[in-house]
Amino acid sequence: MFLSIDKAAEILKKGGIVAIPTETVYGLAGNAFNETAIAKIFAAKGRPYFDPLIVHIAEFSKFEDLVTEIPENAKLLAEKFWPGPLTLVLPKKEKVSNLITGGLSTVAVRMPKKQIARDIIKLAGPLAAPSANMFQRLSPTSVEHVVEQLGGKIDGIVDGGACEVGIESTVVGFENNMPVIYRPGAVTGEMIVECLGVGSWGVGSSKLSSPGLLKKHYCPSTPFFIGLPSEVPKNCGLLAFGELPVKSGEFAEVLNLSEKACSTEAAANLYGMLHKLDSCKLDKFFATLLPPAGLGNAINDRLIKASCR
Ligand code: AMP
Ligand code: MG
Repeated sequence: MFLSIDKAAEILKKGGIVAIPTETVYGLAGNAFNETAIAKIFAAKGRPYFDPLIVHIAEFSKFEDLVTEIPENAKLLAEKFWPGPLTLVLPKKEKVSNLITGGLSTVAVRMPKKQIARDIIKLAGPLAAPSANMFQRLSPTSVEHVVEQLGGKIDGIVDGGACEVGIESTVVGFENNMPVIYRPGAVTGEMIVECLGVGSWGVGSSKLSSPGLLKKHYCPSTPFFIGLPSEVPKNCGLLAFGELPVKSGEFAEVLNLSEKACSTEAAANLYGMLHKLDSCKLDKFFATLLPPAGLGNAINDRLIKASCR
């Protein structure tokens, strides 16, 4: 089940699917130019075909190979934030499979930073890789999370330890040349407008602009709610951020995303703590949102989606 980088690359080149670590979350990778491999990814995850995959590259020249043209603003963002947790959406070349893009005329591309991912991509890439979890379940930030959801359904896993960033990449497209954030992440809107010297960024919310962005996503099995209950019920948990609320002693289980209220630390802990609370056999658990700025927006986005039923 656990593979070396070379063995993983060999399996990927033959059309297999392998979970690989990146700095955001573990991805379930397949050769981007092998439609059988792509179909296997959708089948293993139970992911609907309308939810497009991100193609992962290790060299800028491969970006030019996948998209019809790279506008100046996309170049600036790639120069500043690649390798890193930023995905760019641009019109695709014909050779990019419609299976990857969910039938869209655009393709989403990212250059990850984690060395293991880069080594595998250099040997076997470009790789299409969504998060290595079952559709609509919690994203994986450790090999244990991957084994729990996909063990037995995939051709192997490369162990790269914990994912440093801990939440999925920021997905950015362009409408009338202006940046539009389809999914918030560690590269924040503030960082994007500063890099481009533009006044503001758009927020892509429609299903049409980014079909995978369903309201319900990233869900634990235990009922999960945002906000604090006025009366703390028996056997319930709390996912806190910063200073603990007065009633914290009444919860059966309390985990703190970051005692020092640091959003970077909170992002790295987010999925691990959601997985942990989900495994505690609680009747339900609650979380408080972070201040809505920078990375706090991305974490809140995941918390709100995790609480949707
Ligand atoms: P995941 O691979 O699970 O991190 O999810 C990838 C997400 O990227 C999808 O659910 C979409 O929201 C977004 N995405 C991928 N391709 C496109 C695209 N061509 N246009 C807009 N959004 C995209
Ligand atoms: Mg995902």
